[in-house]
Amino acid sequence: MSVENVCIIGSGNWGSAIAKIVGENTARHSNVFQRNVRQWVFEENVNGQKLTDIINTQHENVKYLAGVPLPTNVVAIPDVVEACKGATLIVFVLPHQFVRGVCEKMKGHLAPNARAISLIKGLEITPQGTRLFSEEISRILDIPCAALSGANIADEVAREKFCESTVGCTHVADGQVFHKLFDAPYFRINVVQDHVGVQLCGALKNVVAVGAGLSDGLGFGSNTKSAIVRRGLVEMRKFGQTFFGDVVQTETFFESCGVADLLTTCMGGRNRKVAEAFAKTGKPIDQLEAELLNGQKLQGTLTAKEVNEFLTARNMVEEFPLFTTVYRICYEGLDMHAIVRDI
Ligand code: NAD
Ligand code: 13P
Repeated sequence: MSVENVCIIGSGNWGSAIAKIVGENTARHSNVFQRNVRQWVFEENVNGQKLTDIINTQHENVKYLAGVPLPTNVVAIPDVVEACKGATLIVFVLPHQFVRGVCEKMKGHLAPNARAISLIKGLEITPQGTRLFSEEISRILDIPCAALSGANIADEVAREKFCESTVGCTHVADGQVFHKLFDAPYFRINVVQDHVGVQLCGALKNVVAVGAGLSDGLGFGSNTKSAIVRRGLVEMRKFGQTFFGDVVQTETFFESCGVADLLTTCMGGRNRKVAEAFAKTGKPIDQLEAELLNGQKLQGTLTAKEVNEFLTARNMVEEFPLFTTVYRICYEGLDMHAIVRDI
């Protein structure tokens, strides 16, 4: 059996934390993986130096995951074609707005037996329909694609604070390979077959977290936030049932990718943080994203907009009051107190 050649596409906060785990595991399982892992890094200048040079010499992503040493077998590459050439396992971990453009560039450069896994939390939603990122990646690159999602705030994972995560993979043998690639004593993986539910949870919980942040910013307490979380969970499940039917399993909501990720994001995530600041200052979301996140990207407000376009096209906005209220507050100037009044 030939060993797998792993490539990571993305190098933000989560991309860097996962590069640490993947680098550790490819070195550990030399019978399954080639030791070196190529990581595509969106090149930028940091303090007068190229970020790829910094990663390859200092073994640290000083911009997106400062203070965490990366394994020396993770090699940063600025050209996406060079990074993915001949790869058999491709880990996609970049903000959802950039996926399509990057995949188009990768076309025709992967190994014939390549498989991918998406760590992206977002949905490709248009008025015409929803597409999971695993489906979008499969469609463009013509390869199978699984998904990984969980209660995984990147900085905590990188500092080896115990957590769990869920891999959704329909193909059992590939699920075992992904288990080997990601599982660590501080990062426990459970593999399920419902890759659709895994991704839906990861995308929609970000919208709920914006609601939780608004609640915090307005000075409501834990009871209020819990009510928002509960209603958010109900709408997440209803969205799955309504638009994907029995494909999405209720059990998936009890995995790390479900209720656990919803909770951690509503307590400690970036969507919560920026929404709290939005409620307190009234500054535009884009400005707060730039001021508070140092180049990291917010996914929840964009997903709220995409979900709203999708629901509007089906005349169903009133059936998802929390998702709709988050959208209207962020994009239509609705009074922020609607987060408790209108849901
Ligand atoms: P991030 O928000 O920290 O960083 C943004 C990344 O986008 C940077 O690597 C930046 O270089 C890159 N970028 C900027 N402009 C670009 C462009 N034009 N084209 C391509 N790339 C560009 O990223 P992240 O936290 O690694 O998030 C990736 C995915 O992982 C998201 O879907 C997110 O929801 C998910 N996720 C994040 C966390 C977390 O705690 N950070 C945890 C789990 C999942
Ligand atoms: P944020 O993007 O809100 O930080 O959420 C991170 C996450 O997905 C934790 O699992």
